[in-house]
Amino acid sequence: MTSVNAALAAAAFAPALAIGSFLNVVVARLPEKRSLVRPRSACPACGHELAWWENVPLLSYALLRGRCRGCSTPISLRYPLVELTTALLVAACFWRFGLSSDAFVASFFCAVLVALSAIDFERRILPDRIVLPSTVAVLAAQVALHPERTVEWVAAGLGASLFLFVALVAYPKGMGMGDVKLALLLGVMLGWEVSVGLMVGMLAALVLGVVLMARHGIAARKTAIPFGPFLAFGAIVALFWGEAILSAYLGRF
Ligand SMILES: [Zn+2]
Repeated sequence: MTSVNAALAAAAFAPALAIGSFLNVVVARLPEKRSLVRPRSACPACGHELAWWENVPLLSYALLRGRCRGCSTPISLRYPLVELTTALLVAACFWRFGLSSDAFVASFFCAVLVALSAIDFERRILPDRIVLPSTVAVLAAQVALHPERTVEWVAAGLGASLFLFVALVAYPKGMGMGDVKLALLLGVMLGWEVSVGLMVGMLAALVLGVVLMARHGIAARKTAIPFGPFLAFGAIVALFWGEAILSAYLGRF
């Protein structure tokens, strides 16, 4: 089984790179309400239109040494990062869940989280136009695949959302309504394991906050770090290890 899944993961890697490449278009254009299909990709600095070989995931970035062929402006590191992260996560989904509907839903979930993290990192927003339709799609898929857990999906989504809403009211500086809505998506995907996702995400944000404070002192408090990528990180930990973490934790009582 494991070797079959490893082969599946390897086979998923290249198509997933292409998905990552599409996510880069979403990240660059969706927040500006530009079309995702037209015009062709071009350098944002000089308008140089990319030839097909300048648009190959990972390889083009390496081949061009991270610079536009027209004007030598550095290409954002976000492009190869999004492509590689997407490919690794989708491969991991097939490794973990095998050739199943669950693997496709988990891959979709990961891809959405990658795009949202990149947008939140660059613009400090989590667009409703991604979060809300994704939540509906994931909930529909989960209910169709695992109808016996319908109450869990809905309750976990609402619970996670309410939890972050309370946190937002108590500590308004740390996050925004975008994070509250994102928690809904995490809950309908993860079920009760969303608790692991929220805890890991908050812990990761806390650790980075402490590290930044230690390095830059009080000034670090002013660097607003978006919370979305931490929630996404926690959600991915919960997706792959949530069950194990939760049962280990509950087993202690
Ligand atoms: Zn250029």
